[in-house]
Amino acid sequence: MEQIGRRVWYLPEQEATDRPNLGYIRGTRYALMVDAGNSPAHAALFLSGLAERGLPGPDFAAVTHWHWDHTYGLCALPCPVIAGRETAEQLEKMSRWQFDLPSMERRLAAGEEVLFCHENILKEYPDPASVRVRRADIVFDGALELELGDCPCRLLRVAGPHSMDSVAVYLPQDKIIFLGDSTAEEFYEGPAHYDPRRLKDYIALLEGLDFETAVPGHSEPEPKASIMEYLREELCAAEGHSL
Ligand SMILES: [Zn+2]
Repeated sequence: MEQIGRRVWYLPEQEATDRPNLGYIRGTRYALMVDAGNSPAHAALFLSGLAERGLPGPDFAAVTHWHWDHTYGLCALPCPVIAGRETAEQLEKMSRWQFDLPSMERRLAAGEEVLFCHENILKEYPDPASVRVRRADIVFDGALELELGDCPCRLLRVAGPHSMDSVAVYLPQDKIIFLGDSTAEEFYEGPAHYDPRRLKDYIALLEGLDFETAVPGHSEPEPKASIMEYLREELCAAEGHSL
């Protein structure tokens, strides 16, 4: 676990099976986990990291979007799960999926899953039939304020270029924001790409938020200036392609 603020930590991503960063925020009353990991093993690694540092387990887990690598660890957590409406709907749908190989291959052929995720699920799970998708316990539309104890925390639907259900976890006092994968390309709708309109709205939204450090889904925390510069460059490139 890496500490990035007085009361904020994260477990760094692990590329081998596409495990994302997992966040942890400790207020004086409650602790919040940000994203649940790609499997019970990943969630367990996070919980043991907390225990090693004498930090209490999470009281709530919030997920940033529905993709497997951020949500399939939910079933191993003892706390309530918070999700935005669209994420919760997708969790509900996935909770009825079968994870035997023929069913997984059918979803791949139908475009419900993409090859990169399919392959990483098979790498993460010795027996993919053991995958269990847990549904959300607390569902919100738009935004949700959590008071973790002298630590205000806002869950904001940011949509953005990666997945329309994306939610960011924003700590206005700490000036830290967990962005999930919302800075990344869309890769469920055709080849990986940035939609210029979605990216433009997203840039405007992030510009309006006062933060110093952003934690992306699969890379190291970055200062606001560098993440905004990267997104503006991608916007120029995407607008060039769509002319
Ligand atoms: Zn994603």
